[in-house]
Amino acid sequence: MLVILSGVAGSGKDTIKKELIKRTDYITSLPSYTSRPIREGDVEGQTYCFVTKEEFEAKLKDGEFYEYDVHHNNYYGTSKKLLNEKIASGKVIVKDIDVNGTENLKELLKNDTKVVTIFLRVPKEELQRRLETRVDKPGPDEIKLRLNRFDYEESRIGLYDYVIKNNDLEKSVQIIMTIIENELRVENEEF
Ligand code: 5GP
Repeated sequence: MLVILSGVAGSGKDTIKKELIKRTDYITSLPSYTSRPIREGDVEGQTYCFVTKEEFEAKLKDGEFYEYDVHHNNYYGTSKKLLNEKIASGKVIVKDIDVNGTENLKELLKNDTKVVTIFLRVPKEELQRRLETRVDKPGPDEIKLRLNRFDYEESRIGLYDYVIKNNDLEKSVQIIMTIIENELRVENEEF
């Protein structure tokens, strides 16, 4: 089963994903391939598999990705091989991905894997506050860009199975664990 977590940057999806993985032994992550530079806190093969633009383009040409997108001039793609290996291991994969990638993956995987989609919502004022108090605080133009992106992502909320207001980390983690457990139960009962 693949659980997709979406929400704008600053919505808390990274923190929630890490908590879910830390607290259970059946939830795992799925690193995407990217051509963006490594940042502090990144771990090769865990947060992402880092490649050059040329290496990414070669993989793209060879049909190695289910889907890909370009964000801030960098490629990001979901590897068919990595996803299939993780699914075969029987674990629940939690992946954070934007709305466009979610739509593509849901469509592509609909006959092969159960996909559960969750959108994390934060009020716009709260998001602005979080962006402005981040250690790696973006500049004013970047903040404006992200708030515009907020309106776009909010407009696509109908695509998701679940929408959660993330104003309390602990509560959100508990809600998502309950969703995953229920979805697993339904999956096991389906025949
Ligand atoms: P960041 O560089 O901040 O980690 O991620 C930038 C954006 O890329 C985020 O919106 C993230 O959800 C998106 N992203 C990460 N991996 C993938 C992927 O495999 N496919 C797509 N379409 N977007 C991705």
